[in-house]
Amino acid sequence: MKTNSVLQLAALLVALAPSFSAAQFFGDPPDKQHPWAKHDHNRPVPQDVQPGDKPGAPPSDAIVLFDGTEASFKKNWVHIREKRKTDWAIVDGTMQSMKGAGYIATKEEFGDCQLHVEWKAPSVINGAGQGRGNSGIFLMGVAEVQVLDNFNNPTYADGWAGSVYGVMPPMVNPLRAPGEWQTYDIVFRRPIVKDGKVVDEGSMTVFINGVLVQDAVPLEGGGGYRKRTHPKGLGDVGPLKLQDHGNPVQFRNVWYRALRKRPADGGSDGRLSVEATMAKRAEIADMVLKDAKSLDGQDKMLRLLESLCYRSDDVILKEVSAMGENFVTDVQSKPDAIESRKNEVVKVYRAFKFMNDHKLIEDLKVYQDLNQIMEKNKWKR
Ligand code: MG
Repeated sequence: MKTNSVLQLAALLVALAPSFSAAQFFGDPPDKQHPWAKHDHNRPVPQDVQPGDKPGAPPSDAIVLFDGTEASFKKNWVHIREKRKTDWAIVDGTMQSMKGAGYIATKEEFGDCQLHVEWKAPSVINGAGQGRGNSGIFLMGVAEVQVLDNFNNPTYADGWAGSVYGVMPPMVNPLRAPGEWQTYDIVFRRPIVKDGKVVDEGSMTVFINGVLVQDAVPLEGGGGYRKRTHPKGLGDVGPLKLQDHGNPVQFRNVWYRALRKRPADGGSDGRLSVEATMAKRAEIADMVLKDAKSLDGQDKMLRLLESLCYRSDDVILKEVSAMGENFVTDVQSKPDAIESRKNEVVKVYRAFKFMNDHKLIEDLKVYQDLNQIMEKNKWKR
């Protein structure tokens, strides 16, 4: 393609793209706990993610922790116990816990995540209760989602496969027979501690083989054996650990994705504190004002006006008023051409009306003038 046609195509694509820089006066404006307007066109839109090519396959934004190869194991995992009888084995594209090898941990440390793990207990049944196909998935190295062959093999409820170990039994038991692959999809939210106080206990959501078994269950510390634990902070990040409980359990296809931050964690989506809301609104106002600088005429005026949805600013208000009054003067100066400017005037009037109705501006002369033009020309429906 010649440079010229490339440029033409680029220009066409820009022209076809939705114009996010044009001001809109539409849904309820930001308030004290919501920095964004309803349906806010300034709000960042979701990034594209390529889903896996089959269920369970890692999407494009996943961090793969084990892909079945020895190289992937070596790159991502370490044995925790220095003195150990043996290592975990890489067998048939799986990593297998070995008696005496101890836990393994990821080199990478992370917090809130969507985690995908597939595991398989031996088809030859050996042992009973907690002694059969036992392993465990420890989020941040502490909070365990139990791995256990509970197919026709009961144990205590809060130690069942898919339990938040020692805290909460799974709602149901959707395990397949030993020797078959089981899929765990986990959504982990770590506790959030501020000034020594747990402000969010964190939670665990677990699907086994696509069946929901834990529904945003609040964490109670790390869980654990026999002793009751209580909500507490676990830090910001930690390694993922897998347990050697003396039974050979195989793992494959391990990946995670980081999650959007919660408001209590500095995230700017959702209902925020007043302080966080006002800080975010100021940031958005700055972004809108910066964009306004690249515009001219009415587009600039409306974009400046829009910035006042996020932050009141007397200097900007003055500038917008002056621009508005110039616009009104210009429209009124050519009464014969007024019908041809109907769309323009209606658009500007509606913007100021929105601001006035939501008490973002008050008693502005330009709004009153626009109102008069609308009434005089019978443009109000
Ligand atoms: Mg276990």
